[in-house]
Amino acid sequence: MNVVNIGYGSTNYYAVNHQKTYLLIDVGLPGTFGMMKNQLQKYGIHFKDIQYLIVTHFHPDHCGIAQEVQSLGVEMIISRTQLDFLETANESMKKYSNYKKINIDSKNILNENDKNSFYERFGMPGYMLHTPGHTDDSISIVIKGLGIFTGDLPLVNQTYFASSKKVEESWAQIRNTNEKRIFPGHGNSFTF
Ligand SMILES: [Zn+2]
Repeated sequence: MNVVNIGYGSTNYYAVNHQKTYLLIDVGLPGTFGMMKNQLQKYGIHFKDIQYLIVTHFHPDHCGIAQEVQSLGVEMIISRTQLDFLETANESMKKYSNYKKINIDSKNILNENDKNSFYERFGMPGYMLHTPGHTDDSISIVIKGLGIFTGDLPLVNQTYFASSKKVEESWAQIRNTNEKRIFPGHGNSFTF
């Protein structure tokens, strides 16, 4: 199990490698599919080896090309909480002319904190956590022994977006996982 940051345009996109397959965490802005393909090529990742995609939240720089990625055979998995926000997200993203509406197969909805389903699906020990604070649809992805993908959850002293209480509660949940490495949506990874 290892992780490669294939990010571009100031956002990190992570490719988690496990037994020759990849899980992508977040994908780029609408219209950047070609850039993503270039990045994959640069890191020697074949599209056919990418099995799954999870997005941390429905902002354009994290989910803008999710449907195009799905159309090439990658399955997008969302959390139960994110499902409640999907329609609004598709609606608000219409302003991007090249945005393709995200469709989710009902079998690809996982409950937060459900370790068994996560393992069954990805073959890796982990789970999704609902971690609002940047947006209410934000999740973090915990992968045991690797770290936590926190999307745009601001640090406790950096709460521009929402009540610091939500942010603090989300970090408390993250702390409880006992994982030490944080992979944020922007900037360098760090030890927690
Ligand atoms: Zn965001």
